Amino acid sequence: MIKAQIAEIKELLATPKHIVVVPHKNPDGDAMGSTLGLYQYLKAYNHSVVVIAPNDYPDFLKWLPGNDSVLIFESHEEDSEALIHNANLIFTLDFNALHRTGGMTEVLENSKATKIMIDHHQQPDDYAKYTYSDAGMSSTCEMIYNFIEFLGDLDKIDSTIATCLYAGIMTDTGSFRFPSTTGRTHEIVGDLIAKGANNAEIHNNVFDTNSYSRLQLLGRAMQNLKVIPELRTAYITLSQAELDEFNFKKGDTEGFVNYGLSLKGIIFAAIFIENQQENIVKVSLRSKGSFSVNQFSRAHFSGGGHDNAAGGRSEDGLKTTVDKFISILPQYKDELSPK
Ligand code: 5GP
Ligand code: MN
Repeated sequence: MIKAQIAEIKELLATPKHIVVVPHKNPDGDAMGSTLGLYQYLKAYNHSVVVIAPNDYPDFLKWLPGNDSVLIFESHEEDSEALIHNANLIFTLDFNALHRTGGMTEVLENSKATKIMIDHHQQPDDYAKYTYSDAGMSSTCEMIYNFIEFLGDLDKIDSTIATCLYAGIMTDTGSFRFPSTTGRTHEIVGDLIAKGANNAEIHNNVFDTNSYSRLQLLGRAMQNLKVIPELRTAYITLSQAELDEFNFKKGDTEGFVNYGLSLKGIIFAAIFIENQQENIVKVSLRSKGSFSVNQFSRAHFSGGGHDNAAGGRSEDGLKTTVDKFISILPQYKDELSPK
């Protein structure tokens, strides 16, 4: 973000505004951490601020400070539309295209508010007046820290803001182990701990609050894990019947795909999750090294994301989707075959 833009944003924020902060649909830890962290920062300046999430999110994020003030668009459409209509400023966080907000897309497109995008996904759309986009960043939460620093306000980060930002950096970096984690990421995280983020408690709140049925579902997912060693690929399927059997709740399958990638020698992992309500199969893709799952998802599963973590969908049913996946893989054998 260039200095002139920072100065303009500072000017905008100098007087109280009506501000809406929006994460992507199916918000994850980074989306909720960044929106709630920014929400708290802006509130301290006496702006009237609200976080509006397109739809609901998992329980393991509901302990985040400020969670109770979040409005869910899907279940409060009228109130949300009125707030968006009245907003002078809209921050869109952790996504690169308005359609990533699902049912909110049109309302956001039609809004006259000044839009500010802060995001770390590749190929950002050009919808915002101010775009702070950097695909090299570990997380949007790291960028919110930078943004607050650009505004000269690091001393305004209190323990609640620090907690939100820490949670998002932790979840988006796979607990600080993905290659997107840099020395700078660790410096920021160190500062967030110094400012009051309780790292052990945050980790516990996110990762050690499993239900028994979720662990049983994980067991089934592991039984369904298939490996294609000659293409260094592993994939998991979960049918709607299996989800129902283990009393599936939103967020229960979060992170399952990473188990495929933890197999020795595997560099490409996928999970296919049937969703009968939406009549789709949700696809999550992860890779190690230079194989881009963002491009793979864009090309074959109407999705996108990052080089090493992407999502997508299919409307072909579970079996056909998996068959399609298996039939596409050989096209990538130059990249996937063992060297
Ligand atoms: P997940 O597999 O956890 O749903 O998503 C992995 C990453 O890809 C996240 O950063 C998420 O924001 C992004 N992503 C997931 N689904 C889509 C999609 O349909 N389109 C795009 N552009 N990105 C996606
Ligand atoms: Mn993110």
